[in-house]
Amino acid sequence: MPSNTWGDPNNEWENLNTFDSWGETGIARKIKIDGRDESEELHWYDSSLRTWKARPGPGVLPPLLADMLHDPDHALYSVSAQPHPPLVSPPPSHTPSADEVRTAIPHPNAYFCREHNGWVLLLWKSSTVLPPLHRNPETPLPDQNRRKRTASCVGDGEQPSGPSNMTHHWHRYEKAVDATKLNPPYVYGELLLDLYICCQCSMYCLVSDVIPGVIPAPLVKEFTLDKIGHPAIDKTPKATAVAAWETVLTIIDNRLWRDETRALPVGRPRFQTKIGWNGHVEQVFQVLGFPTDKLAQGDSNTQELTLQPPPIDPSTAEGKASRTKLLRAWVELSAWLAIYEKANKEAMKDYNPIVLHVRADSERDLYQTAIGAHVSQLSRGHLPDILASYTALEPSWKTLGMTPSTYTWELLAFAYLAQCRCDPANTMTYFAHLLTIVNTMLSLHVNVPGELQGLIVEERERYRFTPEDYANAARLLGFGRDNDLGVELDGEVDDDFIAQAWRSARQRAWQDFSDVARKRAQLNDALKIVAEQRGSEALLKVWSEEKGSGMSPETAYQTLYVPKDVDETMLLTVFSMRVEDQPSQSERMREALSVIAEVTNSERLRQFLATGNDPGDSTVINISPEMPRGLNQLGNTCYLNSLLQYFYTIKDLRAAIASLATADAKSFDEKKFTDDDLKRHRVGGRLVTRREIMRSKKFVNLLADLFWNLEFCETTAVTPAIELAKLALVTSQDEEEDETSDKAGTDSSNDTDATLVDDMAPRSSFDRSSPPATQLQSPKSPTGSVLGKRSRDRDGESAMDVDTPAHTPPGPSALSPPTMKASGSGEEAASFIENAIGSSSKRPATSDPDVEMQEDSSLQAPGNGKVPPPLPPRKARQTDDSVMMFGRQHDVSECMDNCMFQIETALLDFQGMATSDDDKTSPVKRLFYGKKRQRLLSLSLNEDPLHQSSIHEKEDLFSHLHVNVADEGFDLYDGLARYFDDVVEVGGQKKRMEVSIVDPPPLLQVQLQRVQFNRETQQAYKSQAYVKFGETIYLDRFLDSANPEKKARSKTIYTELTAARDRVQRLTQGKHAPFASAFANTVDYLSKQTAINLPPDDELLVSLSSEESLIEEQLRTDREKMATLKQQIEDTWKDETSAAYELTSVFIHRGSSPSWGHYFFYSRNLPDRPDEWFKYNDSDVSAVSKDEVLADTTGSTANPYMLVFVRKGVDVIDTVHRFNPDTLQEEE
Ligand SMILES: [Zn+2]
Ligand SMILES: [Zn+2]
Ligand SMILES: [Zn+2]
Repeated sequence: MPSNTWGDPNNEWENLNTFDSWGETGIARKIKIDGRDESEELHWYDSSLRTWKARPGPGVLPPLLADMLHDPDHALYSVSAQPHPPLVSPPPSHTPSADEVRTAIPHPNAYFCREHNGWVLLLWKSSTVLPPLHRNPETPLPDQNRRKRTASCVGDGEQPSGPSNMTHHWHRYEKAVDATKLNPPYVYGELLLDLYICCQCSMYCLVSDVIPGVIPAPLVKEFTLDKIGHPAIDKTPKATAVAAWETVLTIIDNRLWRDETRALPVGRPRFQTKIGWNGHVEQVFQVLGFPTDKLAQGDSNTQELTLQPPPIDPSTAEGKASRTKLLRAWVELSAWLAIYEKANKEAMKDYNPIVLHVRADSERDLYQTAIGAHVSQLSRGHLPDILASYTALEPSWKTLGMTPSTYTWELLAFAYLAQCRCDPANTMTYFAHLLTIVNTMLSLHVNVPGELQGLIVEERERYRFTPEDYANAARLLGFGRDNDLGVELDGEVDDDFIAQAWRSARQRAWQDFSDVARKRAQLNDALKIVAEQRGSEALLKVWSEEKGSGMSPETAYQTLYVPKDVDETMLLTVFSMRVEDQPSQSERMREALSVIAEVTNSERLRQFLATGNDPGDSTVINISPEMPRGLNQLGNTCYLNSLLQYFYTIKDLRAAIASLATADAKSFDEKKFTDDDLKRHRVGGRLVTRREIMRSKKFVNLLADLFWNLEFCETTAVTPAIELAKLALVTSQDEEEDETSDKAGTDSSNDTDATLVDDMAPRSSFDRSSPPATQLQSPKSPTGSVLGKRSRDRDGESAMDVDTPAHTPPGPSALSPPTMKASGSGEEAASFIENAIGSSSKRPATSDPDVEMQEDSSLQAPGNGKVPPPLPPRKARQTDDSVMMFGRQHDVSECMDNCMFQIETALLDFQGMATSDDDKTSPVKRLFYGKKRQRLLSLSLNEDPLHQSSIHEKEDLFSHLHVNVADEGFDLYDGLARYFDDVVEVGGQKKRMEVSIVDPPPLLQVQLQRVQFNRETQQAYKSQAYVKFGETIYLDRFLDSANPEKKARSKTIYTELTAARDRVQRLTQGKHAPFASAFANTVDYLSKQTAINLPPDDELLVSLSSEESLIEEQLRTDREKMATLKQQIEDTWKDETSAAYELTSVFIHRGSSPSWGHYFFYSRNLPDRPDEWFKYNDSDVSAVSKDEVLADTTGSTANPYMLVFVRKGVDVIDTVHRFNPDTLQEEE
């Protein structure tokens, strides 16, 4: 039962003091208004509550109702007809009866409007019974029980509980009442009346549209103005008009009461003087039923124009109709004259009007009083004119249901509260308009009563907000295309995503302890606003459970008497102890714990708070010690977790890193390295700075810690140190650029740079990674500007990349290893860092962060609704940490380069005499690097390479092979074949680039280049093409030592295969493809079309059809051929299995965009259980089947972007590597 029904004591205004939020002194309490419900107002967003309460929707205050009833500039008159004295004796037989005259007024409740020359049916009543409804209204009627308790909101009428409202609150139900069902009924046909009901009392009001009079209002107006414009010599203009109308009235009078039937000659002087003759006059008589006629004048031949009086005999239908019409016109014209004469007495001077037999009394006061709009009820003019006439505020006044002329602060407050009460769904709209009015008053320096400001404050405390507040809240949570999340907050976004966005934003707020309280409060408000706007109970629950208080972290630790570096197990023990000691303080203790849970971003503490159980213990018990551990998400560490897990699976790398675990990075005295020392080693083709060495040692040190945790921890997941993530994601070059340049003079790195200028790594003779034209023909001389710094100006470089053929391996693949002293420039050496392990960092011309493969599942999450957003804001910030968390985003391979660079740098041996020329001392080089031979051949002579006039050949190290993933239907061999035998453009000439492997690496990393560039749209996109691969791959066919006969044979087959593939692609893809169906459609269209008249051309149709068949046939042949050729190639090499590689790791990107998505990683349980695979999904590591890893990903957006193979028989992978106490005990 709704709580707003009569007799519910909880709902009476008098009992509202139980409601906390309004308080004893609440402004709202000073307003006389009943029927409010505190709980309903606080839960305005709850649609089920709204349905249950069935409030009537927006209402209006009486002054606005008055305006709606009839044009506020028009007065409505009650009209009464007096008995008409006989004009002749005895009265003619058709003289109208007194009853006929009375009923000439359309309805007892009809009021005459002179301006409209028509009637308005207006009726008001205080009744507990509603008028007869024509149909059920669409919006709910106000609560009838409530209405019954008050006869009228205004006035002193005796009422059950006395008036408890400032004024009425009217609700409109358009065309809801049928006037023919009234008592007495309206008899002139169907007339629907608007119903207005006060939601607070028994008053209702009915009003019709204007019922037009016999003479249309415009004609009345034109007629009158015409007379005023041509006044008679002896009369004022208005008297002239009155005299003319009086003549019309007299003619009607004579017809009705004298039974005058003679034709009226309009040309005679009498008629001309009285009324004249023109179009208006003719029209007036026409609508009155006096047709014009031409009569012979006397016995002469001239004719004169006359008006023919209509029949009024009620026994004939025609007579009855014109009789009724004339009577109505007579009443209307009399009323019109009565009102006009009264209003224009002065202007008519001493004109003596004829006696009228109709009275018209203005009832404006009467009905204004009835509906509560009279000036004696609501005073006017409290608002200064400047505000009352401020047009920008009109929508606000109107929305609140009031008029500025009747403004008082109480009435405005009443209007606002009444709208919120009756239309809770739009509470925020009303609040916004109230605020707009108050703000405008303030801005125009109009006095704003303290109460009104108090009301705003009170409402603010009840979380009232405006659309602007909502927009700000959304931005604060990171929504908006150009904001952190990159998505608009709309219906697509689900509650979980918003909650996660809020949590992440709060988490970020902790980064600045000084401002955290304010930011948290803002974010809390933002979530509340968004939750209410969406009407989401789920989000409100999150808000109320997780918002916490403003407790600072310091206070939190103090409250529990624990030091800041307390470990979680100890913290939980202390917490339980304190709660047991002081149960009364348990709420505060919980709050403190929840604050610490947030500060430390602890899942364990959160779960403890939510469930009361410490998950730390249970997870340890449930997870096998031999299971690999996960890595908790750390801000936008995105792909980094996959990479760190990958490094961990590589035994030799892990061991090398572990050797630095105990070393204290600070103990490395940079002074120990002389400039000569620094010149002894190169990493990534260049010398490194002292500072980079320090930085790298720190990185490896932290990595060793992480690895130690992965080996020994009991929990299911480990959280990487923020510093580690930062060092991994931010290159030393970026870091230096981010620092202020004033350091430059003293920075040791600059000293070294100066040395490096003269000692740059030589440039290789050719390389696919950078523009071949400049590379081969005009090598640049080394310049200091690129030294040690990654070229920021990559747009130009990548623009050229974009122009290379689409199938060219997009990333830099060739290396200029330090050992090779070929010719070249320093520029390439500098970019070697990026390329060191085969970066795929090709970027399209629009090289902004958005085209990188970076973690931002925020855009994806709304779609699947599952992935919580990691919320990596992309805005650059000031602080050091933010460089990592929010700074430049690097792509996966850039990050990998950076990690490898640092590992290698950290492992440099400056003690011994070794230099980097002594290759393979570094585990990085030993594990990942192979050697390849590149030959650049002339394309035209490629049939006979031995006789080429110019063969460029060189050897290079490589750490990655690249497979361009653009088209469907390629397997890994196909992709690699393109890499090993390709066509490139060099100096404007197309050349064949042949690559072969001289020395295969232990670990083979194959990058699947999925970021593609669409030249038409100028956009990067992600190719989702499936590239088939298996557990084993044989590199024999790509080896330098491969059987030359087989090589030549497969080359020939490939030429054919490629041609077939290109043909199929041309026919099925591209702008107008597929062509077969294009032809079919054309034939279909031409054979059926009727739109334009083409000469029938059966020949054309036949030839089109045959064209289509030809294409189909060609496609079928090519596809068959492709399969055959492909098989021939595989058959050629099937016995060559010396260079076997086993799949060991698969990196997955899930998402449809290259700019964001989710990253995870599969690794094979090597060496012991090769059929077992693990899926590393951040904190979650699970065992999965081989089938999942090798599955056909067609149709999915989760597909590999890097595959890692290990050379068969090379024992470098040890995936799990967990400390197992059980095994230990057994061994003991
Ligand atoms: Zn009117
Ligand atoms: Zn009322
Ligand atoms: Zn209402």
